[in-house]
Amino acid sequence: MLLAWFATHERQMPWRGSPDPYAVWVSEVMLQQTQVATVTPYYERFLRRFPDVGALARARLDDVLKTWEGLGYYSRARNLHAAAKTIVADLDGEIPRTVEGLCELPGIGRYTAGAIASIAFGLDEPVLDGNVARVLSRVFLVRTPPKEPRTATRLWDLARELLPKGRAGEFNQALMDLGATVCTPRKPACIVCPIAPVCRARAKGLQDALPAKSRRKPLPHHEICVGVVRKKGRVLIDRRKPEGLLGGLWEFPGGKRRKGESREACVRREVLEELGVRARVGERFAVVRHAYSHFRVTIHAFECEFESGRPRAIRCAAWKWVRPREFVRFAFPAANRRIIAALAAPPASG
Ligand code: SF4
Repeated sequence: MLLAWFATHERQMPWRGSPDPYAVWVSEVMLQQTQVATVTPYYERFLRRFPDVGALARARLDDVLKTWEGLGYYSRARNLHAAAKTIVADLDGEIPRTVEGLCELPGIGRYTAGAIASIAFGLDEPVLDGNVARVLSRVFLVRTPPKEPRTATRLWDLARELLPKGRAGEFNQALMDLGATVCTPRKPACIVCPIAPVCRARAKGLQDALPAKSRRKPLPHHEICVGVVRKKGRVLIDRRKPEGLLGGLWEFPGGKRRKGESREACVRREVLEELGVRARVGERFAVVRHAYSHFRVTIHAFECEFESGRPRAIRCAAWKWVRPREFVRFAFPAANRRIIAALAAPPASG
C-alpha cells in the first residue's frame, strides 16, 4: 500500500528519477539537516558547477565552499570535496557500490550510504533518517527516543525487515515522503495515510506523543567580539583553519570574550592573537545572534582602525586585505554575512 501511494504522491525533486550515484550522493548530503525547498536551488547550482565526481575533485575547496555558502554545516561541503578526491585518486573515479565502501568515505554515514546504495545502485539496503524514524516509531509503537542507541538499532532492524526485495530505493523514498508530507512531526494526517490500518500509534491515539523526545540540555551560549579592521579603504579578513566548525571559511577576526574583559579589549586581543596586528577599536555597529547545532552565539561587531603590525596567519589559515565590494568573492558563514549586511546598511538616523 505504501508503494501504491508513492506511485501517485511522490514529491517532485530535481534529483529524483536519476540513478546517477553522484547526483544522489550530493542531494542526500545537502538534505542532511536542510529542507528540500532550501536545498533545491543549491543542488541545481552545485551540479551545474561540478557536474560529476571528477569535476568536484578538480575544484578548489574555496570554490566548493563558495557554492555552498548559505547552506550551513560546511563540513558537509569539505567532506564531499575530500571524498571526491579520494574516489578519483584511489578508486578510479568510481563511487563505491556497497554500504561498507561508501561508509569509508568522509562524510558518508550509514544513512547516506543506504540512500545511495538503494536509490542509485538498486541494492536492498535500508535508510533511517528523522522522517523514517518517526513513521516507524509510530507504526510499531516504539516508546523510547529514536536517538537512544538501542532504539536506533531496533529501528534500523525494522527498516531492513520491511524492505520489499528489489524495490528498496522506491520503498525508502516512499517512507521518507510519507514522513515529510503525511506523518509529520505535529498533527499527522492519519486520515489520508495509506498505512493507517497497520499503525499501532494511531490505533491507540498516541500518534502525537511519538516519537518520544530525548531530554535536551539547553545549548551553551558564547559571546563573541569581532573587528572590521580598516586600512586605506581595505578590510582585513582571515580564513579559518580547514578543520573544525566553519573550517576553510573567511571571517572577520575575533573570538570569545573572557570573563571580566571589556568587549573592546576582547576585539583588540583577538585581532592581535589571530593576526599579529594592533587595531584601534571604535564603535560597535552590529549585534548578531546565531544558533549552531551545539551552541548559540551573540556576536558584537566593531569598527576598527589598523594601528600597526604586519598580518601573519597565527591562529588562522590565511589573511587578506580586501575592498568591501570584494566580499562577494569569498565564502563567509551566515553570521558574518549579516555583519557585512550591517556594514552596507545606511547609518540609523536620530
Ligand atoms: Fe503516521 Fe498517522 Fe500514518 Fe500512523 S496513521 S503512520 S501516525 S500518519
